[in-house]
Amino acid sequence: MKPDPTIIVEVRIISRIEKPLTYAVPSFLEKPAIGSLVRIPLMRGTELGIVSSYPASIDFPKSKLRNILEVLYPYPLIASDTLTLATWMASYYGCTTAQVMDRILPPGIRKGLGAKEEVSLALTQAGREVELPTLARRAPKQQALITLLLSQPGPVSKPAAIKAARISPAVCQELIRKGWIEEIRKNIDRIGYEDEAAAGDTLRPIEHALTEEQQIAVDTLRPILDAQSFQPVLLHGVTGSGKTEVYVKALQHVLTEPGATALFLVPEVALAPQTVGTLRARLEALGVHVVVWHSHLSEGERRDSWLRIARGESRVVVGARSAIFTPLNNLRLIIVDEEHEPAYKQEETPRYHGRDLAVYRAKLNNATVILGSATPSLESLYNVRVGKYQVIRMNHRVDNRTLPTTQIVDMRREFRKNKQLTIISNPLKELLLDRFEKREQSILFLNRRGYSTHMICPDCGWVALSEECSIPLTYHRSGNILKCHLTGYEIPVPARCPQCQSAKIHGEGFGTQKVEDVVKAILPRAKVCRIDADTMNKRHLFRTILSDFRSGRIDILVGTQMIAKGLDFPNVTLVALINADQSLYMEDFRAAERTFQLLVQVSGRAGRGEKAGEVIVQTSTPHASPIQFARRCDFDGFLDEEIELRREFNYPPFRHLIRHLIRCRNPEKANFYAQNWRKHLDAASIPDLEIRGPVSAPVEKINGEYRVQLWYFAARVIQSMHQIQQLRESFEWDKDIQEHIDVDAFNLM
Ligand code: ADP
Ligand code: ZN
Repeated sequence: MKPDPTIIVEVRIISRIEKPLTYAVPSFLEKPAIGSLVRIPLMRGTELGIVSSYPASIDFPKSKLRNILEVLYPYPLIASDTLTLATWMASYYGCTTAQVMDRILPPGIRKGLGAKEEVSLALTQAGREVELPTLARRAPKQQALITLLLSQPGPVSKPAAIKAARISPAVCQELIRKGWIEEIRKNIDRIGYEDEAAAGDTLRPIEHALTEEQQIAVDTLRPILDAQSFQPVLLHGVTGSGKTEVYVKALQHVLTEPGATALFLVPEVALAPQTVGTLRARLEALGVHVVVWHSHLSEGERRDSWLRIARGESRVVVGARSAIFTPLNNLRLIIVDEEHEPAYKQEETPRYHGRDLAVYRAKLNNATVILGSATPSLESLYNVRVGKYQVIRMNHRVDNRTLPTTQIVDMRREFRKNKQLTIISNPLKELLLDRFEKREQSILFLNRRGYSTHMICPDCGWVALSEECSIPLTYHRSGNILKCHLTGYEIPVPARCPQCQSAKIHGEGFGTQKVEDVVKAILPRAKVCRIDADTMNKRHLFRTILSDFRSGRIDILVGTQMIAKGLDFPNVTLVALINADQSLYMEDFRAAERTFQLLVQVSGRAGRGEKAGEVIVQTSTPHASPIQFARRCDFDGFLDEEIELRREFNYPPFRHLIRHLIRCRNPEKANFYAQNWRKHLDAASIPDLEIRGPVSAPVEKINGEYRVQLWYFAARVIQSMHQIQQLRESFEWDKDIQEHIDVDAFNLM
C-alpha cells in the first residue's frame, strides 16, 4: 500500500496558544517550518496561527482535516522557545496567553501584514532546455508557465506569473521540485530603518587594550560561553571599570560561530546612547548587523526589524525589556546591563521583569546570561551567595583612577548653624565655588522635580491637594502652576488661600527647580542647567543639554536620578546628593537597597576623567546603615545586614511578593470587595501562601480611584498563582472594580 502523503501539522492560534489545532499541509504549499505564521480556516472564518509541531499520527481520520490556507512568511516568525516562554509567563504572572502573545508579537506581525518581500520566478538552465512540445502534451499547465517565463527578459513576480499563466500554485511548486524553475526572494526594507536616536554618539569608539581585571573577566567568561550550557554570571564592576568592553569581547566571542545570535538589554535605549553606539560600531565592524529595538520605532519599522531578525540577517538585538521577545534563534548569549534597574519591570499586564525573563530564556536556550551592574540587586547578590550565579568582580576603574572620596554632611547641624532650612550646605557651597574656579564640573542630584514639594497656608493650615489624587500638588515656578506628579493635572497658583483668603500662602519643601535657583544665586557667573522629567519631555533639549555639558558649555547640572546612571562625563569632579533621606523613608521594603544603590551610582559619576572626584551626601540621618555602607562601598557588609532583615521578615528574596491592587471610585465599595475577596481566599486556605491586607495603598487615591491592596507572600509562585487565578475567576467582582495582580512587584505605591 502506498503511504498516505498527507502532512499533518499542529497550529496554535495566536490568541489561544494553549490548545493546538490539527490541520493538513496541502501539496501545493511548501511545508512550513516550525514557528511559521500560517492562515487557517476556523469555523466559518480564518485565523492566524503558529506552526508548533508535526505529529506522526492523529487519532481520527485524516479525511476530516482541513487544509492550512496560506503560509504568511516563508520562515519561522518566532524563536523556537517563544511558545514555552509565553506559556510560562501566563502561569507565572497570572494572565492569559493571549495577553502575553499580544505583548510578544508586534502589531504589524500579529495582523499578518504582508511581508515586504518579493518572490519572483526564474528559469533554471534545465528549465530552458525542456522540450516544450512533449511537455505541452503531458502537462499543458507546466508548459504554459515555462513558455511565459521564456518570453520575459528576466525573473517575473510569482503572483503575477501564476495569474498570467492561469495556473495554480501547485503547478509552480511542481516545476520548482523538478528543478526547472527557481524562486528568487528579495527583501524590500524600509528606508529610515536606522533611526538616528538609536545610533547615539556617532564617534567610532577606539578599541582599548584590556585592563588586568577586564582580561580576567574575559578569560573567566570564555569557557562558560564555550560550554553552551545555562549559566548566569553576575558581572559586578564598579562604575568606570569598563564593563562595556567585557560585554563586547563576550559578544564577539559567541558571534564568531556562524548563525549564533545574542541579545543585549538596557533599561532604556535613550539613556544608553554611549553603550548602544559602542556596540554598533564594534559589532558592525565585524559584519554583524545590529538591530536597535526601542519604543520609538514605527509599526512598519518594528515589523521589518522583526522579520530581519527572524530571517537571521540581524544576529544582535540591543533594546529595552521588550527586546527579550525578538525572534533570535540559536541564542547563545544574553546580557542585561544595569540589571538592578526597576525600569526592567513592565508596569502593565503581563507585568513581567525583563531581567527574570532573560534568565529564563537563557535557560531555555542553554545559553549564558550576564547580568551587569555596579550596584546589583539584592536578589542577584543573594543568588551568588547561594551558588546559583557565578560572579566576576571588577573593583578598579580603568587606568586605576581612584574612586572618589565621600563626605557625609549632617543637615541637622547645618540647620542649627544657619537657623533655617538649608538646601546647599556650607561644605557643598565651598566645593561648588572651588570647582567653578578650577573650571571643573559638578552634578547635583535631587529626586524631586518642581520648585516646592507642596503649598500651604500658615493661617488656616490649608494644603493644595489635587481633587483626584491623595498627594499634595507640587509648585512649579515655570508657568506658575500647581501640578500633580501622578496624573499631570495642573492648575494656576491661587493668589490667596482658597479657604481663608490669606495672602501668606507659600511653597514648602524643595525640588530641582529651587535647587537650580539657589545654585544660580551662589554662583551667578556659572552656567547652570537642569535635567528632569519636565525637560525630558522635550527630547532634543535633553540631548542638547547633555552634549553642552560634555563639551563644557555648562558648569553645573542639576537633575533627578535620571542622570545618575550610565552617563560618562570625564570633567566632573564633584557630585552631590542633596537629600539622601528621601528614598530612605519610603513605605517600601526595598528603601534601604534603593538608597544604597543610589548613593553608589551617584558617586560613580564623579571623577571619571584624569582628576579625582569628590562626593557630598547631605542627610539628616548620617548614621543610617545604607548611607554608611555606601560611603565605604561595602557591598558585603550591606548585604549581610540587609539579608538578615529580609530573612527575619521573610521578604524577597526569601519569598516572592505578589501585590494585588483593587481600585474603585467609591472607597466603601473598594473596601467591601477587598474584604470579601480576603474571606474568599481564606476559605480556600492555599498552602504556603501568607496573605496580608486589605489595607489602603500608600497612595490612597489616583485619578479619582481609591486604591486598596493585598499582599501575598508565596514560596512557589506558579502553584499559588494557579489557585489564586481560579478563585479570582470564580469571584464575583463588581463591574465598578478594577483589580490587577503584580507578581514580584516593584512599585509598591
Ligand atoms: P562601566 O560600564 O563599567 O561603568 P564603561 O564600560 O562605561 O564602564 O567604561 C568607562 C570608560 O572607560 C569608557 O569611556 C571606556 O571607553 C573606557 N575604557 C574601557 N576599557 C578601557 C581600557 N581597557 N583602557 C582604557 N579605557 C577604557
Ligand atoms: Zn488659609
